[in-house]
Amino acid sequence: MKQINVKRSSQFLALVAIVSLTACGGGGGSSSVSGSVATATPSPSTAPSQTATPFSTATPSTAPSSTATPIASATPTPVATINPAAVPLGDGMVSTSAQTGYVYSCATSFNGQGATTNGPWINTAAGTWSATAKIAVQGSVSWTTTASNSMVVSGNNFVITTNDLPNVGTTGTFPIAKSDPAYAYDQNGNSVAAQNLMFTLPMNPAVASTPSCLPNGPIGIFTDGVVMFNALDALGRDGGAHEVFDSCNGHPAPGNQYHHHEVPACIADVPDSTGHSGLYGYAFDGFAIYGLKGTGGTAVTDASLDACHGHTHAVLFHGTTQTIYHYHLTVEYPYTLGCYKGTPIAGF
Ligand SMILES: [Zn+2]
Ligand SMILES: [Zn+2]
Repeated sequence: MKQINVKRSSQFLALVAIVSLTACGGGGGSSSVSGSVATATPSPSTAPSQTATPFSTATPSTAPSSTATPIASATPTPVATINPAAVPLGDGMVSTSAQTGYVYSCATSFNGQGATTNGPWINTAAGTWSATAKIAVQGSVSWTTTASNSMVVSGNNFVITTNDLPNVGTTGTFPIAKSDPAYAYDQNGNSVAAQNLMFTLPMNPAVASTPSCLPNGPIGIFTDGVVMFNALDALGRDGGAHEVFDSCNGHPAPGNQYHHHEVPACIADVPDSTGHSGLYGYAFDGFAIYGLKGTGGTAVTDASLDACHGHTHAVLFHGTTQTIYHYHLTVEYPYTLGCYKGTPIAGF
């Protein structure tokens, strides 16, 4: 999918990203687009209001502070739960407008390389796949000593800097070895390597008048320091079903950019006092993405979320409890976002 190389002259000066589109998965795609983009950046005269903190601890997801307002004890709406052994297959659920259960995709044609063979965990007749039966790429490579990521608040923005290596868990061994059973289904030939990424996001994101589409490539950042991709594989299919990830639900794209298409399995969910899942990351419109559970600890589903895969209620956000839109992860496709509810930063 999208390979991002970021060069910056200074942490608080212009950010220039050279973007090229390549396939996610196998060995690169046939399409390629290049261009120069610049993101909105904080004023150079504005000093950061706090020092850089490790991204994973920048925004506590435990109890609200004493100044925070209580979270309303709303009764959770009962929704059908998803059986992880029979997750509805998301193939074909790609749209050109915001639609619940779909990925509103900026790309309308897909010609990259992806997983080559359906694994036995996919039941095309039933239209389901089994998250419990699906295999993972072998290996356990730790990056915790080389992972580097931080978040700095600067005025109305926060700046995330990351080298994209996961600060928790391990990755599998990539490229996928021929001796790995995963190779029969997915011949991902990319490696995991450090990137040089910086994202400037709004501290107080607003819902846009209309949702916008999700590009291939990075659409957000998880608290493990790893970028988030949408649910689609390089062929525009349900990547969660078809592609073989490692035990932390990640794999590398061309450019060796490690990423998650679905729930990052190695990030611990630290729920708040209501049982609502803790923070998992931020989309590129600045809105947060939380784990699998809504208020009361009830698992959220597509049916309980809007087309962009979120909803609005009181939640801990940037250290205070506030009623604000946010996304949720789900066991079912599209796993992360269905579209951008706010305005995404330029260049992505
Ligand atoms: Zn991928
Ligand atoms: Zn919620």
